[in-house]
Amino acid sequence: SVLSPNTPTAELQRIDAAHHMHPFTHNQGLADKGARVITRANGCWLTDSNGNRMLDGMAGLWCVNVGYGRTELADAAHRQMLELPFYNTFFQTTHIPALALAQRLAELAPGDLNHVFFAGSGSEANDTNLRMVRTYWSEKGQPERQIIISRWNGYHGSTVGSGSLGGMKGMHEQGGMPIPGIHHINQPNWWLEGGDMTPEEFGLARARELEEAIEELGPDKVAAFIAEPIQGAGGVIIPPETYWPEIQRIVDKYGILLIADEVICAFGRTGNWFGSQTMGIRPHIMTIAKGLSSGYQPIGGSIVCDEVAEVIDATEFNHGYTYSGHPVACAVALENLRILDEEGIVTRVREETAPYLKERFETLTDHPMVGEAKIVGMMGSIALTPDKAARAPFASDAGTVGYLCRERCFNNNLVMRHVYDRMIISPPLIISREEIDTLIERAWQSLDETM
Ligand code: PLP
Repeated sequence: SVLSPNTPTAELQRIDAAHHMHPFTHNQGLADKGARVITRANGCWLTDSNGNRMLDGMAGLWCVNVGYGRTELADAAHRQMLELPFYNTFFQTTHIPALALAQRLAELAPGDLNHVFFAGSGSEANDTNLRMVRTYWSEKGQPERQIIISRWNGYHGSTVGSGSLGGMKGMHEQGGMPIPGIHHINQPNWWLEGGDMTPEEFGLARARELEEAIEELGPDKVAAFIAEPIQGAGGVIIPPETYWPEIQRIVDKYGILLIADEVICAFGRTGNWFGSQTMGIRPHIMTIAKGLSSGYQPIGGSIVCDEVAEVIDATEFNHGYTYSGHPVACAVALENLRILDEEGIVTRVREETAPYLKERFETLTDHPMVGEAKIVGMMGSIALTPDKAARAPFASDAGTVGYLCRERCFNNNLVMRHVYDRMIISPPLIISREEIDTLIERAWQSLDETM
């Protein structure tokens, strides 16, 4: 039979449980209660198969920056599918969507980040980066420079390469990660790990772990440092102000490459086109995905500086994906960038939406269960705590309370995510003031019900 939103929910859930293996999910546990079936969406709102409307506080998975239901993006895909649905860019050919998108990204990206290597996702793009920086140093006559430093609790994707760059211990325990040649340092999470230090002292201390690691591993062995400008999936960890300037100083001092994983932070999420601009850093490579197409098509890539591109372009880089520069994905991404630009969405985030969201979001610290509430642009998180003054985590298994709170939000038709005991928001950038008010009201109610 043909399935549709009119098929009874129980039947859709039965089929889902029988045949569909969900990512990052205990599938048996989910089957017992049944997945919520999302049938359609518009603006910031999702509709499920029972007709409930949910406010999407996560923009899907941090990606639907322009909101759902943009017909221009569907039209761009339709036009491109009819004109040229697929062609590769491997063997001496190119096509207009890929070159036009690369040109536009070079215009938008700061400094001399002028070259784009496309991928199908953020994970793939970080695999590209891993191989690209190592190849860069080999081609420069320094093949011993192979180690990449990254951070515990950072997230760079789910392939073996990108998952190894990431610092998610739960992922490392399954399937043979991390691969050799990757070294992790601590994250700048002052709330949880700052002890008696001020945030400024702690930011410096955590940044200096990079210098210590480089000295320990050998300055001539380190190829690159990769980090998200603001850690997203690790719990929206906004570093103290001292952190990034110190990292930049260390990267410059040792001449290692800096990779900014902008998969979440780019395309308006932090109030600028790129999170690197918000954090004041100068990466050699930026990883992009998600907001590049607002999630309407799977696409990712690496924006590469002149110096690295020149070295890579001078050899044959034996790397690429069938869907590198997929024409339909590129056409949709290009249209998405046009919408972000011409509708002034990035500027509006910086000047209007984000300041209002910050004002409202920070009121959550008045709730007895909320410690800090931190937000930059349109990505923020609150720390749940039984003891604000002590900045204490809950004594139960880390994440139990966060999980409960997320469930309460879900039941109250608000999508928030939890990472351990931090609750996260990352709504579509087009969210209105009224919708922000609704988000905060529902979050507060869900916190009440979690206590
Ligand atoms: N890098 C960051 C910072 C991410 O947040 C993600 C996904 O959440 C990725 C990389 C991986 O991207 P993808 O899921 O498209 O492979």
